[in-house]
Amino acid sequence: MNFYILTLFPEMVMHGLNTSIIGRASAAGLLHLEAVDIRAYSANKHHKVDDYPYGGGAGMLMQAQPVYDAWQSVVSKIGKKPRCVYVTPQGRTFRQEDAKAFAEESDLILLCGHYEGIDERALEEIATDYISIGDYVLTGGELPAMVLVDAISRMVPGVLTNQESGSAESFEGSLLEYPQYSRPEEWHGKKVPDVLLSGHHKNIAAWRREQSLQRTFERRPDLLEKAELSEYEKQWLEEKKMAGHEKQ
Ligand code: SAM
Repeated sequence: MNFYILTLFPEMVMHGLNTSIIGRASAAGLLHLEAVDIRAYSANKHHKVDDYPYGGGAGMLMQAQPVYDAWQSVVSKIGKKPRCVYVTPQGRTFRQEDAKAFAEESDLILLCGHYEGIDERALEEIATDYISIGDYVLTGGELPAMVLVDAISRMVPGVLTNQESGSAESFEGSLLEYPQYSRPEEWHGKKVPDVLLSGHHKNIAAWRREQSLQRTFERRPDLLEKAELSEYEKQWLEEKKMAGHEKQ
């Protein structure tokens, strides 16, 4: 999969992504990560890319021309117009299902804003998706773009050495993952649950499912609305809810 990240800070993005699993996948040719320096497309002799917003107000705005020309350079180079995601606090919140859907694309452009954002006219012409990574405001779009590249890349076949680890994780089936333990069997007086040492695969799977449900109920009950539950699990959940109401 090919990622093109339009940014004023290409080194920040490349340093952030060229390590660990994403760096390894990139070196192996499974991913192509390219940061495109928007400033290089400034038509201004001082390489300026921002200006005051019309109508007044605080801060500076990234101008339409360098942003559009940086985007056009990618489009001309690859000969198509891939989806172009503007990362912005005004977008819909990024979720695991978006990561999976974007991983189906062969090319993706990510546009990082800075200062007060980007001239609306450039966005109207190039942005196909508006994505936020949460309800808070960051100084720039570089960290959000890196978050998206990381989450999407994990869904690209071959990026994770063990495909299993991508399928049993949190948010699969709208549940959080169960707790996990490694060696030693006892640490700080805490023992690994017996069932995990039993070698009994069916019991282990049942314990993990129960733990997933319990954890999701405690930490992210909103997810359970969409989870596929058996009749027995639905009843278990109702009892939990009732017990919660009685306590209040
Ligand atoms: N003035 C903008 C507003 O109120 O919507 C905020 C601009 S913010 C200071 C600068 C840039 O950081 C944005 O253009 C966007 O690319 C990025 N950014 C900030 N917070 C973000 C978030 N929660 N999700 C995605 N991108 C974000």
